[in-house]
Amino acid sequence: MKKKTSNKKKSKLIYSILASAVFLAGAFLQKNGYDLQKHVASFKYNQLNSVMEVHFIDVGQADSILIESGGKYMLVDAGTNEDGELVVDYLKKEGVSKLDYVIATHPHEDHIGGMDDVINSFSIGTVFMPDVTHTTQTFEDVLTAISGQNLEITIPQVGEQYTIGEASFVILAPNSDDYGTQLNNYSIGIKLVNGNNSFLMCGDAEKEAEHDILKNGIDIKAQVYKVSHHGSNTATTEEFLDAVSPEYAVIECGQDNDYGHPNKETLDKFKARGIEVFRTDMNGTVVAESDGTNITWSSEK
Ligand SMILES: [Zn+2]
Repeated sequence: MKKKTSNKKKSKLIYSILASAVFLAGAFLQKNGYDLQKHVASFKYNQLNSVMEVHFIDVGQADSILIESGGKYMLVDAGTNEDGELVVDYLKKEGVSKLDYVIATHPHEDHIGGMDDVINSFSIGTVFMPDVTHTTQTFEDVLTAISGQNLEITIPQVGEQYTIGEASFVILAPNSDDYGTQLNNYSIGIKLVNGNNSFLMCGDAEKEAEHDILKNGIDIKAQVYKVSHHGSNTATTEEFLDAVSPEYAVIECGQDNDYGHPNKETLDKFKARGIEVFRTDMNGTVVAESDGTNITWSSEK
């Protein structure tokens, strides 16, 4: 698939040219006894449609997701250590100067590796991390970047809601601080909502964490499911999938990765349910554009 997302800056320019043209035409026609008011009103309505973009950045066998709504940005994970520059460049290309929220879902390198570069390259609002530590240099590097920028870590609580532009998200996980050394299960999970469109992303949450998410009582039904743990068969239980009931699944995984992700078992579950699957190993970076009613997909390799 070829990328078909229109250049936002270009469309903003076209909007302002159109707005000026409508204004001038209105002034002319009003003088000539014709009221353009209702045409202007419908033009404004189109402009106010709240578009949210969700970019599933191709970072190989790792996760990194950029969300934009109303000029506000959030980054969920930042790929591996090697991906730092790629993620920073991608964000710059998208016009990001400030990230209102950054979520480091859990301390594994394939999620937080590039986070220090991101934190050091942009103005950062809130940094969400789960209440769990790791002994790696990568984890230390993220903590150093956070303190170096005089930022603090916010440990999100399940049920909390945040707004990002015209969209909002609710914290779904982690639901326990007792997953032992199973770092994946501490993953911060969110449900992102823009109008009638919704996206679920829970990092690398595995069966145990999914079970706890199902118990917390929050409605996790979502149109788009960011497949947990790169499509591993240790996640995405039938019960979880029943509750999410997605139309689309996006898998972030690397070509010929060492883990056999995504597992055939997981892909079969999507196939049996008629869920359309996008994969970063096959499609490259996958972008979902939500207008609150419809989701349009594009990708770029
Ligand atoms: Zn992972």
